[in-house]
Amino acid sequence: MAETVAEKTQVKLVCPNCDSQQIYDLVDGTNDYACKDCNRPARALFGKVRSKRSRGDKKAQSRQYSVRVLHEGVEDLFEFSGGYHEFELRGGDHIILGYDQRDALCVVQNLTLARFERLTVAHRANYRPLIIGLVVLVVAIAIGAAFIAHSIYH
Ligand SMILES: [Zn+2]
Repeated sequence: MAETVAEKTQVKLVCPNCDSQQIYDLVDGTNDYACKDCNRPARALFGKVRSKRSRGDKKAQSRQYSVRVLHEGVEDLFEFSGGYHEFELRGGDHIILGYDQRDALCVVQNLTLARFERLTVAHRANYRPLIIGLVVLVVAIAIGAAFIAHSIYH
């Protein structure tokens, strides 16, 4: 039988949107909920730490984490960055990965040690201007080709 994290647990969650702390019932794996304070949607992934690797960059005052987490009988790799000071995550610790309303991983909680850290959220690439640029280019080429074809055949 696959190893599970816990059937159902009452956990104090840090809201990834507003930082308030409230008690919620969580199940192993993904938990979608609305914050009791700000009412905004959030998601908590509840699991157990398998292993952690981290690399600090003193100049940038940041640290990159690669954490293997067991949830719902499967193991997933999560990569995120936080402050330079190392956030402790040991094998077997219960972990919560908190996603905000935009689905960005913002908070990591170690339930075993009752500590949490707000993460440095990577700025997401915005491809929209690039796509609009490409569409304009394709349309311009098509008009150009039509114009050339028109001048050749008439
Ligand atoms: Zn909130």
